Amino acid sequence: MLYGIEVWELCDADMLKVETAHDQMARNIQGLPSNVAGLAARGTLGWTSLESWADQRRLVFLFDIFTLPGDNIYREYITRRIIHLYNWNKDIMPDGPVNMIFKLSSKYGLSNILHDLCFGNVIGKSVYKRAIKKSVVGRDTDLWDINLNLYSSLKIFKSVASSLELNLWWHLADSKPECREQCRSVVTTIVGGCVWWSGSKDNVCRMCTKDKDSVEHFLYACEGVKNECVEMFNDVNEIVNVSLEFDKQPIHLKWKMLLSGYGYSNYSEWENLGILVANGVYKMLNKKKQFCRM
Ligand SMILES: [Zn+2]
Repeated sequence: MLYGIEVWELCDADMLKVETAHDQMARNIQGLPSNVAGLAARGTLGWTSLESWADQRRLVFLFDIFTLPGDNIYREYITRRIIHLYNWNKDIMPDGPVNMIFKLSSKYGLSNILHDLCFGNVIGKSVYKRAIKKSVVGRDTDLWDINLNLYSSLKIFKSVASSLELNLWWHLADSKPECREQCRSVVTTIVGGCVWWSGSKDNVCRMCTKDKDSVEHFLYACEGVKNECVEMFNDVNEIVNVSLEFDKQPIHLKWKMLLSGYGYSNYSEWENLGILVANGVYKMLNKKKQFCRM
């Protein structure tokens, strides 16, 4: 889809289409419903945007050109072109691959490195790639984090998945493949895939009809899945670390602790608790699915 992206540029509208397809792939891979926001779907896999992936490729491509022999015609041409660009008015800069990469270096605060490369001060490729990754991925992660705030359906997700990386529950599915469906239920729930609008204007929960359907309602208050929820908390109370006084916490904090790994730094210590929670959420979600299909 993006073959040769190093030397061609997509307009904003086309980039949006590519990002949309990228998000859909993230949903398909994880078996998430289509109502899940793309930002969350790729967030649980730790995928950056395709734009930042393409920008990294473009900047590395530039480095490869600058490390060609000094008399190489491509290196010579690009060096002259970039020196020429330093003197252009940035607002009326012409199009083209060299100009595009030149603009990227200032977008990501890498102008000094580009200047050094241009004048023959070539640093090691690994140092250069690290600098690119830090700057490009750092910017992408910051944007991802900020944009999560735009979705009210992702409040819980933002509170339990604080960084752009493979979600904790997919790690559990990796080490316990027999629990994959249960882990998928947790991921589906935290990214808002547990919400089915009733089609009515007030979007009330179809199971209990007591409140607006939302992730918060489903986890904290829905009477339609109350039995499954209570059963899970009873099981959890038996094995959680008593020093955290889990049972005395309000319901939203209980869920936050359970969905974000319960503060365990040691993964193997958390695993049994994780399986219990995944089983509980799986039962809750399945009950809701069966009810809503009726
Ligand atoms: Zn309900």
